[in-house]
Amino acid sequence: MTTTRSVKEAMLRDFGSRDGEFIEINTRIRRRLVELVDAVETHVAVPIQGSGTFAVEAMIGSLVPRNGRLLIAFNGAYGKRIVRIAEYADRSVTTIETAEDAPVSPEAIDATLAVDPAITHVAVVHCETTTGILNPLVEVAAVVAHRGKALLIDAMSSFGALPLSAKEIRFAAVAASSNKCLQGAPGLGFVIVEKTTLGATKGDARALTLDLHEQNKGFEGNGQWRFTPPTHVIAAFDQALKEHEAEGRGEPADPGRRHAGTRLRDPAARRASSADHRDLQDARRSELRFHAFLRRVARSGLRDLYPGKLTLAESFRVGCIGALGADEMTGALAAVRSTMRELGVASGRP
Ligand SMILES: *Cc1c(COP(=O)(O)O)cnc(C)c1O
Repeated sequence: MTTTRSVKEAMLRDFGSRDGEFIEINTRIRRRLVELVDAVETHVAVPIQGSGTFAVEAMIGSLVPRNGRLLIAFNGAYGKRIVRIAEYADRSVTTIETAEDAPVSPEAIDATLAVDPAITHVAVVHCETTTGILNPLVEVAAVVAHRGKALLIDAMSSFGALPLSAKEIRFAAVAASSNKCLQGAPGLGFVIVEKTTLGATKGDARALTLDLHEQNKGFEGNGQWRFTPPTHVIAAFDQALKEHEAEGRGEPADPGRRHAGTRLRDPAARRASSADHRDLQDARRSELRFHAFLRRVARSGLRDLYPGKLTLAESFRVGCIGALGADEMTGALAAVRSTMRELGVASGRP
């Protein structure tokens, strides 16, 4: 959780939860969030206390009605978490699981919607953070809209960095948080939800604290939170949104890649998936070297390398969350390079 000095400084100010200025900050944040997805006319942003998962749980538990049925297309741990959330909320669930090194399939979603008309909602993770796979959101949204269903998106690790526009795709709701691509302090989630959807879900929520309809009523009424807001975190988030805007509104770095359903394709994983015995032995040897590698890189002060175990190959994730720029990433690569040299690895090629 890295953030800037100016974001931290915004937290030096104390606010009362009913202060006029604090209410203005909330109004500004809610407005800015819907602007970021081109949804000022169609959607509202409902902030919720807690981390990103709280927002996802609020989205699923509030928007899928008691007699609804949710299709979850998933390819990793965060997608699986949505399944658990829906089960906790006692919602009727059906799933399509894709291999963790492949994007979710719009064709499979379409086929399932064709044979199971009871499905009312479809949930998908935009970027499955455990593997880095960017799921083909535009294609999924097209299929879901064509079948007349409501799309719920977990965009936790993409919101603010990758394009997501209500003018390009139709979605009932998207959930994200204050501290990933938007470099705020942790402690705040939000759901951007279609006004018509929100209006129709009164009384559907499974938890008082996570009831988006009621939470929104507070903001629309007197501009206040129902329960004690994380005032400092909200002030920091306001500052983080200003910094995000100053950095260029989250325009895509490479517009040519906008809608590609990209795959994380580690050639080592592909090799192992052939289940060839000799290759598996290779993989085991490289596993030992991998752990030595991680230990050494951590010693250099680089903390955001997470050992991640895909089913078939050892791997690591570079956590690029918060206020990280070119200098930090160049530094990370330098640490990796010098560790490889220490370990006598001549090349970074698989
Ligand atoms: C980080 C993340 C979450 C959970 O967020 P927390 O803030 O840890 O609760 C959910 N979904 C995705 C895709 C994420 O990357």
